[in-house]
Amino acid sequence: MTSSATLPETLAAPSAGNRLWAPKRLLVTPSALAWPYGVAVAERVAKLGAEVVQLRSDRLIGLPDTYRDAKTTMALVTASPSRRRLQPIPPSADWRFDLAEGCPAHCQYCYLAGSLAGPPIVRVYANLPEILAELAPALGQGGVTSVSAARAAEGTTYECSCYTDPLALEHLTGALATCIRHFGAWDAAVQLRFTTKFDAVEPLLALPHRGKTRVRFSLNAVAAERLEGGAPRMDRRLRALRSMAQAGYKVGLTIAPILRLPDWRTAYDELIADIAIMLGDLPNLDLTAELITHRFTPKSKGVLEDWYPGSKLEMDEALRTRKLTKFGSTKWVFPKEQMAQLRGALEASLAQRLPAARVLYWT
Ligand code: SF4
Repeated sequence: MTSSATLPETLAAPSAGNRLWAPKRLLVTPSALAWPYGVAVAERVAKLGAEVVQLRSDRLIGLPDTYRDAKTTMALVTASPSRRRLQPIPPSADWRFDLAEGCPAHCQYCYLAGSLAGPPIVRVYANLPEILAELAPALGQGGVTSVSAARAAEGTTYECSCYTDPLALEHLTGALATCIRHFGAWDAAVQLRFTTKFDAVEPLLALPHRGKTRVRFSLNAVAAERLEGGAPRMDRRLRALRSMAQAGYKVGLTIAPILRLPDWRTAYDELIADIAIMLGDLPNLDLTAELITHRFTPKSKGVLEDWYPGSKLEMDEALRTRKLTKFGSTKWVFPKEQMAQLRGALEASLAQRLPAARVLYWT
């Protein structure tokens, strides 16, 4: 597999200490190799030592049947027209678009368990130019920031981390850097948004983002780290948050999933205190907070129990309240009184310790 295609220069080595994912196996479809970008990603992954399997058709076959093998497999595919169609994604943003699906980390509460089907491989889309071409027609048409007086300054917002953690894959794909440049060069009121639990931000720091990207770091009380296998520790995420803010990016906190940990009041107050220490001296900080409580569905519980049979994560329907999703299916959330206690405590900590943070929503 050879090509003159090059990956973005931001794929220069990330700084020491970042634990970067190296897939053991790469499945490549013929359509993916029709894109120079796809060829470049395949070459990059192959150089890292992956066994490369070139499929004869675009149908993914030979998918691993164990969790462990799936989590070390990457597939390079193309996003179909229906996959490329933008989807509304309230309350976070106007629109969702996908660069990839799946994530190499092992969080025992992973929200992808309820939304992705099949073995948890990582699928990366090779037709990035076609994906980006879908964005402009939706300008000004969303149902969240495009129609909100409080968030109007954000413009039309596009979220790219709903089905993946794009920073976890950036050293292989360079897709985030391409998106950040794309939004930076876009002369309109737009914002790229992504959330991450990863910390290899160095290749992004010098990009011409022009304030059009908001990166939110997914953070939790330190006690939750034991549930987040394969993700960088909280202190590393906090340092990455600081680096991105210093580089002039809009930043945010995604405090999620909020759990009823032992002594949760102190645990979350300490998290917010640590964030305040990390950001306190930065001038011109543009900081938001999104507060998301833990929930599960019958499907996600079944999948997660299969993936993580020894997990201590509480998913007990008897301790929860049943709610209906907008599609009419069941989700289990904390009871109303506990929800109010959690919300009151976290919002009070934020108001006291981080008054600069604008809370966008609680859910
Ligand atoms: Fe899931 Fe996010 Fe953890 Fe990845 S980092 S496993 S997407 S919760």
